[in-house]
Amino acid sequence: MPVRLVIFDLDGTLWECTAGVCGQLLPPLALEGPDALRDATGAHLQLLPGARALLETLRGQGILLSAASLNDEPVAREALRLLGIEDLFSYPQLRWHPKDLSIRNILHLFAERAGIRLTPQEVLFVDDQADNIRMARDLGVRALQVGRDLKALPDLLEHLA
Ligand SMILES: [Mg+2]
Repeated sequence: MPVRLVIFDLDGTLWECTAGVCGQLLPPLALEGPDALRDATGAHLQLLPGARALLETLRGQGILLSAASLNDEPVAREALRLLGIEDLFSYPQLRWHPKDLSIRNILHLFAERAGIRLTPQEVLFVDDQADNIRMARDLGVRALQVGRDLKALPDLLEHLA
């Protein structure tokens, strides 16, 4: 069954933060390059190589995108906005919820608000943590672990069929 929705983790999957988790970044955030931000303390956030191109390629193929990230929503949203990628994601769950709950919320919101009903088999979840991958697979969602199943983000394009 082809993938219709890809749900991305953020920290360690689409971007890296020198502060560890991006929820610890201290606003205000400022752009310091096309794919990089700094916070009030000088900590950096950097989109990983290929991340922006991958998101744009997926959207170009008509694939829906969302995000599930354990994060402080205002900071994560501001980072997405400054990087110019906020609008690519539908119903992102940027909160301290376990990933299986966030994935269920995203599927519910697509059905409820957009009338788009997705089965778990049509969803691909991407994360850098094994525990989160396991939670997604328990829901019947296909899941790929960055660094293990994917050597680099663009490799995801081989897993869409
Ligand atoms: Mg992560």
